[in-house]
Amino acid sequence: MASFPAMTSAGQEMHALVARLYPIYRSITGAGLRQTLKIIQEQLPLEIHEVASGTKVFDWTVPKEWNIREAWVKNAKGERVIDFQNHGLHVVSYSVPIHVRLGFAELRNHLFTVPEHPDWIPYRTSYYKENWGFCLSENQLGQFPEDEKYEIYIDSSLEDGHLTYGELHLEGEEDAEILISCHTCHPSLANDNLSGVAVAVHLARKLASVPRRYSYRFLFVPGTIGAITWLARNESVTQRIRHGLVLTCLGDSSHLTYKRSRRGDAEVDRAFAHILKHSSERHDVIDFFPYGYDERQYCSPGFDLPVGCVMRGRHGQFPEYHTSADDLKFVQPEALQDSFEKISAVLQLLEENRIYVNQNPKCEPQLGRRGLLGGSDDLSLLWVLNLSDGRHSLLDIAERANLPFSMIKDAATKLAGSDLLKVR
Ligand code: ZN
Repeated sequence: MASFPAMTSAGQEMHALVARLYPIYRSITGAGLRQTLKIIQEQLPLEIHEVASGTKVFDWTVPKEWNIREAWVKNAKGERVIDFQNHGLHVVSYSVPIHVRLGFAELRNHLFTVPEHPDWIPYRTSYYKENWGFCLSENQLGQFPEDEKYEIYIDSSLEDGHLTYGELHLEGEEDAEILISCHTCHPSLANDNLSGVAVAVHLARKLASVPRRYSYRFLFVPGTIGAITWLARNESVTQRIRHGLVLTCLGDSSHLTYKRSRRGDAEVDRAFAHILKHSSERHDVIDFFPYGYDERQYCSPGFDLPVGCVMRGRHGQFPEYHTSADDLKFVQPEALQDSFEKISAVLQLLEENRIYVNQNPKCEPQLGRRGLLGGSDDLSLLWVLNLSDGRHSLLDIAERANLPFSMIKDAATKLAGSDLLKVR
């Protein structure tokens, strides 16, 4: 368990957004996804894009739009023994419409539980294979008599419509962009998808209110197909992406993990590792692997973008993953706050990571005469002067000096103030 500082209002605000979005029934298309983006639009000038079903996006096709109104199973007495009204996870996402009577054995083939956690309901999808099903707790299943007939009703529609995603572009001094992407396609799961959404919304609000060197692009997309669709429609934009982060599972109590981009040594990879190392808190930096979240698409070989992934609980590795236990209690305001602060620190580092040139490179300049010696930052001043040869960035210097970036940055600001340093 990570230890967190006292809860702050930003953490509580992010948690409140998670709580507001939690009950909405989302999938990779449909009304719940649209409603989620509309709520984000109350906080950000988000552009909402609609892409028609059947649109080819690289090797994929935008699927039919799926919507659901009602889903239940009734026993022989006519009592609803499973009801989608009670929990969004009860129905398998993308279930086709059905109204039949079946014996238990046949129904059982369409029921899913988490046997290791008899109180929990699993999350299941069937996006690309037409099927139907219900998810329930093992305990609930234990109460189903096996000699009865059951009435099964799913009032859903799977029709030509649209895939919806949200995009926000914040212009900076430079055209070069930082990409922040999160998935918005899961129903009632708080950590997996909504924590990333809440942190992204908060970052965008903060960045919109301050001067920016980089331009920023925030994407709120359904997982996999949404990122693929955006990439297919924006190939030319990808050339401007200098750094990127996929945000996911940022609200649980595990320590932070940063997953490097496919390149492994991109500036964002080094920046994240640096901030985590100098936080002196428990953390992990792990190598890229081609599964997990949408870094898989951004880091596919045809794009190979410098996009890493930041998370607390890891993909598929915490017991609550893709179950009803990933709820509002599982996500803590303090953890959201800590994730937000670390990511903000990384973005600030990237903003400030410039290359300087020493204006007095032949022997050391006389610092004492300029009133620059005798402070606790003498060492950082000497490192910056020595390595500012027009080839080393401030992050290169911080890494080689094994000093926090903020210290190296302060030294550069001081030296630039005494005309000893200029931005390349
Ligand atoms: Zn997931």
